[in-house]
Amino acid sequence: MTLLGDAAHLMPPLGVGANLAMLEGAELAESLVAADGSGEPDEVVRTFEERMWARAGRWARMTMAGLERLVGPDPSEALALFDEVQPS
Ligand SMILES: Cc1cc2nc3c(=O)[nH]c(=O)nc-3n(C[C@H](O)[C@H](O)[C@H](O)COP(=O)(O)OP(=O)(O)OC[C@H]3O[C@@H](n4cnc5c(N)ncnc54)[C@H](O)[C@@H]3O)c2cc1C
Repeated sequence: MTLLGDAAHLMPPLGVGANLAMLEGAELAESLVAADGSGEPDEVVRTFEERMWARAGRWARMTMAGLERLVGPDPSEALALFDEVQPS
């Protein structure tokens, strides 16, 4: 059993959550198909989770920082953030 999308990691509503959920669903399916019945399914799922947690953690840090700036007193900081943030 595993979790993905919002059930695994909520994000601030800054354009990331649904994209991560779809990407993770596709990656998990791809990993299981690639294993093709060989190897331990649990191991495939754990490997998928490690990759998911690492990426979701990076996006959570970026979007939390973005959220703090968006609701901060200086709007120019919010604009600068969009130039800084590049997808990984
Ligand atoms: C205001 C706002 C704006 C957003 N804007 C963006 C955006 O621009 N871009 C972006 O990428 N993300 C955005 N998001 C985030 C995005 O909506 C979520 O990250 C995404 O919907 C998560 O998808 P999910 O499939 O993990 O969960 P969900 O979309 O929550 O799907 C879970 C589904 O499971 C169902 N369910 C729950 N319990 C049960 C049960 N017991 N049995 C059967 N079914 C059940 C629910 O009814 C629901 O349909 C935004 C979120 C908010 C709140």
